[in-house]
Amino acid sequence: MNNRIALITGASRGIGHACALALAAAGARVALAARHMDRLEAVATEICDSGGTAFPVEMDLASRDSIKSACSRVAKEFGAVEILVNNAGITRDGLAVRMKPDDWSQVLETNLTGAFTVTQQVLLGMMRAGWGRIVNVVSVVGEAGNPGQANYVASKAGLIGLTKSLAQEMASRNVTVNAVAPGFIETDMTAVLTPEQRERILGAIPLKRIGRPEEVAAAVRFLASDEAAYITGHVLRVNGGMYM
Ligand code: NAP
Repeated sequence: MNNRIALITGASRGIGHACALALAAAGARVALAARHMDRLEAVATEICDSGGTAFPVEMDLASRDSIKSACSRVAKEFGAVEILVNNAGITRDGLAVRMKPDDWSQVLETNLTGAFTVTQQVLLGMMRAGWGRIVNVVSVVGEAGNPGQANYVASKAGLIGLTKSLAQEMASRNVTVNAVAPGFIETDMTAVLTPEQRERILGAIPLKRIGRPEEVAAAVRFLASDEAAYITGHVLRVNGGMYM
């Protein structure tokens, strides 16, 4: 990836961590964003120990000010972002009928508004450079729906719509915008599932296993690469066949 500068949100754990390692291994210099600096510093050390370049930065996607100051630190101290991976996301599950307003707004603020705000911070630089890659990590449920996750599903469906609109706005600037839609992946987010929930989910996955973060990261790395230059507005499903 020719020393390109990538910014990955939620890079401290799970899929974001795997994306950071994959992009760094492919030659990108990676800025790592999340709320907890201790974990980000550990990931940065892991990348630097294998010969890569990493820049950990504290960012809370629920706060516009935090996003703006983190992005300006990245731009000043690390360089202009050429690849953005909007990966960070949260869940606050519950049936819609009893969903607390805070659970609705926190998920929408973090997953959708947060991703939009980070994107806005880096778009001008990509437009000026005439090259850019944005990859939004969405979810199988953003296309299929899921009972008990109205807030999360709305945020991911919104992110898919944002992906397609931005892809059309940015195409003439040679900035591609795509989404990767994971199914069930082995991370902290899915560690909370009960054995019964896991069994039910496995029953719905033709490949009969839960996915690995590295398998999602491989799709992100491809869409961020030069090889994916003619792909934009696409939703790439990495879900073991559970939704086709
Ligand atoms: P995870 O293990 O829970 O990690 C979430 C990451 O996001 C962490 O690095 C966390 O770091 C960061 N984060 C959370 N809230 C944040 C905030 N307010 N500001 C900045 N960073 C924040 O999640 P994951 O399973 O890897 O999921 C990554 C993405 O894939 C999410 O968008 C998720 O919706 C999507 N996805 C996951 C699955 C799955 O099965 N795991 C399936 C479909 C889609 P801090 O806590 O330090 O902030």
